[in-house]
Amino acid sequence: MRCPFCGNIDTQVKDSRPAEDHVAIRRRRFCPACGGRFTTYERVQLRDLVVIKSNGKREDFDRDKLERSIRISMQKRPIDPERIDQMISGIVRRLESMGETDIPSSRIGEIVMEALARIDTVAYVRFASVYKNFQAADDFEDFVHELRPPQPSTEE
Ligand SMILES: [Zn+2]
Repeated sequence: MRCPFCGNIDTQVKDSRPAEDHVAIRRRRFCPACGGRFTTYERVQLRDLVVIKSNGKREDFDRDKLERSIRISMQKRPIDPERIDQMISGIVRRLESMGETDIPSSRIGEIVMEALARIDTVAYVRFASVYKNFQAADDFEDFVHELRPPQPSTEE
């Protein structure tokens, strides 16, 4: 890793430790040439995951989109936001560890339902009822659209 201060490429790792609930590795680095210290984060590159939709279309996996669909099913539920974050990180880790970069959207829907079932029954039923109505069009955008209440959302 090149030193950001002097450009020397021969820098040393002084310390490595997990960060962000083991989603990233934080490395403290030292440059012997100029004495500079800097920190880098190493994380899985999510853009490598591709979602295969039921119509065969491919789309880059988008964590924000997944998060929106899950948060909508949890609207007005008494769930700690930190718990939701952990659940989403857990889902993403499962997707990353499947060993495949191409993941059918139906598989993602199943994993989300499994995770929701463990946290909140109401959110699970909301998500599952929409999911089952969308056997032909299992796009998360359709999920989001269907789950959205008729009133305009104040969140966006
Ligand atoms: Zn340096």
